[in-house]
Amino acid sequence: MRAVTVEPGVANSLSLIQDQPEPAPEEGAVLVEALSVGICGTDHEIIAGLYGEAPPGADRLVIGHESLGRVLEDPTGTLQPGDLVAGIVRHPDPVPCSNCAAGEWDMCRNGLFTEHGIKALAGFARDRWRIQPHFAVKLDPALSSVGVLLEPTSVVAKAWDHIERIGHRAEWQPQTVLVTGAGPIGLLAALLATQRGFTVHVLDRTTGGPKAELVAALGATYHTVSVNDLQVEPDVVVECTGAPTVVLDVMCKAAPTGIVCLAGVSSGGRRINFDAGALNRELVLENNVVFGSVNANRRHWDLAAQALAQADQNWLSSLITRRMPVERYAEAYTAGPDDIKVVLDFAS
Ligand SMILES: [Zn+2]
Repeated sequence: MRAVTVEPGVANSLSLIQDQPEPAPEEGAVLVEALSVGICGTDHEIIAGLYGEAPPGADRLVIGHESLGRVLEDPTGTLQPGDLVAGIVRHPDPVPCSNCAAGEWDMCRNGLFTEHGIKALAGFARDRWRIQPHFAVKLDPALSSVGVLLEPTSVVAKAWDHIERIGHRAEWQPQTVLVTGAGPIGLLAALLATQRGFTVHVLDRTTGGPKAELVAALGATYHTVSVNDLQVEPDVVVECTGAPTVVLDVMCKAAPTGIVCLAGVSSGGRRINFDAGALNRELVLENNVVFGSVNANRRHWDLAAQALAQADQNWLSSLITRRMPVERYAEAYTAGPDDIKVVLDFAS
């Protein structure tokens, strides 16, 4: 069968293998036929050789961690043939740490977790894959064209879950949400904010392309000014750019008792002049919280599946700006200027 693979640590080793062995039974009882795989920045980093780890004993890694497929067989009876499913990316570490032991592998404390298509587990960019039933998330049958967005949605479902848990440390009636960065994560974070009934502002530096329209379609407001020029005092900020100046500016922009969720990852190495004392003063005197959020556990995947089922399917569809058949994988994995989400299609 076909599989999109890399040699981890070797730049531009991306290749489509035609004779990938069928998934081993040890990978899980549920056999799934791949429909599509979403592509994100982590894939580009893996292809550049900056990231990624092959399974033990293998020299190549099947990539792809944003999955959608159809169940072919599940002898455990948890799922039925034909069910639409996505595979949970991260698996708990083998020790396990106290968080992984409690099913909160998204909060792993020792870093020994594994991840499909990223770290020591084969990914989903292959014709067929296997998974254990409790790592398979069933999707509404209506989501067959957009269900591949479940993985990025799980990431924002976790971010919102933690924002709400932090918010409820005291009386909390947020109204205004600022999302910085209108990539897939930012747009999905804005979707979940509008589903909660908040007034939502999205800031991005892009003036062309479909982003402004996608934000307007949510009933949210699109801005291309700098954070400091924004006439908004947000109760919640979901920061998705990872850009150092934006990260620091939103910490100062948040309203009293505001919560800033950092969901973007900086590449580091860039130094900027910053008044750390002023930030400290702002955070303490306003009871503000700044926290980081990554990955998602089973509960968040289930919340994400509900959020997608409740969303406008046409809007979700518009997030997928390019769909490529697997044979054109090289083009699919080359980022284009107007891409939001690029998807590799296996069904053909
Ligand atoms: Zn752990």
